[in-house]
Amino acid sequence: MLNRHKPHDVIIIGGGLAGLTTAVYLARAGRQVIILEKSAHLGGRATTQTRDGFHFNLGPHALNGNGEALKILAELNVPFTSGNPDVQRTLLDKAGQLYPLPVTPGTILKTPLLTWREKLALTQLMTRLVRTRPETADHTSWQEWVAAQTSSVALQDLLHTISRITTYINAPELMSASLFLRIFQMSLSKPVLYVDGGWQVLVDGLRRRAEEGGVILETGVRVTAVHETDLHVEIILDDASSLIAGTVLLAVDPKTAASLYPSELLEEQAETAVPVRAATLDVALNHLPQPENVLALGVDEPTYLSVHSAVAKLAPEGGALIQVARYLSPEENGSDFRGSLENLLEMMQPGWRQHLVHQRFLPNMVVANRTPLAVEGGLNGRPDVALTNRIFLAGDWIGPTGWLAEASFTSAREAARRILAESPQLTRERLSVIGNP
Ligand SMILES: Cc1cc2nc3c(=O)[nH]c(=O)nc-3n(C[C@H](O)[C@H](O)[C@H](O)COP(=O)(O)OP(=O)(O)OC[C@H]3O[C@@H](n4cnc5c(N)ncnc54)[C@H](O)[C@@H]3O)c2cc1C
Repeated sequence: MLNRHKPHDVIIIGGGLAGLTTAVYLARAGRQVIILEKSAHLGGRATTQTRDGFHFNLGPHALNGNGEALKILAELNVPFTSGNPDVQRTLLDKAGQLYPLPVTPGTILKTPLLTWREKLALTQLMTRLVRTRPETADHTSWQEWVAAQTSSVALQDLLHTISRITTYINAPELMSASLFLRIFQMSLSKPVLYVDGGWQVLVDGLRRRAEEGGVILETGVRVTAVHETDLHVEIILDDASSLIAGTVLLAVDPKTAASLYPSELLEEQAETAVPVRAATLDVALNHLPQPENVLALGVDEPTYLSVHSAVAKLAPEGGALIQVARYLSPEENGSDFRGSLENLLEMMQPGWRQHLVHQRFLPNMVVANRTPLAVEGGLNGRPDVALTNRIFLAGDWIGPTGWLAEASFTSAREAARRILAESPQLTRERLSVIGNP
């Protein structure tokens, strides 16, 4: 139960991965923490819905196999099991035909999508992708970088296709090339992971650690405003009641953060952010018509299909969970693309409708709150975790490291570190001052 009369140590607004992760770190360090989450359940965009034994993430979710998120989950003792998709089984959908992705010497030699000259150029390009220092491309757009490497349209198309699955971004003229280079180089040593049971397993693991640390978890509580005074922070809830805290973490999207605590920095972030969006079609089948067709990427269309249940435990025995998506450009409306996603599904899994158990179309999902723009120097353009010495930020648009959930995890850990270093725990003396504001 929320005590509205007593001042609180740390209040976290937002119970997604970022809010939960910060809460666990702070609770471990002995801080008293409350999470306020507006929806009925914790997890935000990492929520998984389970229906008849099929686990639906909110669109295709793959965890970086070589990053800080894994270290943080291990550090916080959040166990999970997972599988790796096999990149070599990727098919390219070009003009309605499926071709193996040219990634191995064998597939490069055999592919009809490239001329001999282009095949040779591709092997040289691969070396450049691996060797280029990402920071040298911070201020270069991905489109410019690609055009500077090759004038071959087929090779440019291939690079854009690989970039979309790597970054989720379909705005090559805006995106910093350094983002792609960073993630591509990281992914070479360790493939991504599909989590058994869905990302809810991560959310539930964090929630358990938070509860063990004494974190108070309040769902169905929407915060409407945050006011900072010299002594404390006041939080207004949607029932017009208020709470007092020594420190507040905003683990929400930029628009919500700016509306809760209007400041120049947050308003600028909210206005300039170009969100990364996707239209997703999640499909549960009781039988997979073509078990060998597990992963496809559109070349002419920015589409993706992956049978996630072929890799992770996401479907009951004999069933299949397929994630189909379109990487939306900033001006596109995802509602226009359901038909094209179904066409890709029909090409990969003919007759899928006869085996349909459940389907869910989410036309305009926000995958990431802010595209790392070349004009801002890529990830360097994101705000610091400390907004003031009492108000902190965490989420996929905060801090200079990580992309997607990786950024939520790393900014959460950094926010916890800075709160512990810069925003002192409420002492008896401070409590007596704050208690009588
Ligand atoms: C289709 C799709 C595919 C994705 N694929 C991947 C992937 O492959 N790999 C990857 O790493 N990441 C992926 N992501 C991104 C990943 O899901 C997010 O980065 C991560 O879940 C974000 O966590 P967060 O806590 O920062 O934000 P959120 O999950 O958005 O949490 C914010 C929370 O704040 C709450 N809130 C908002 N306003 C208020 C308020 N006023 N009061 C109280 N609470 C409030 C919200 O309800 C929400 O629970 C994908 C996302 C989508 C949508």
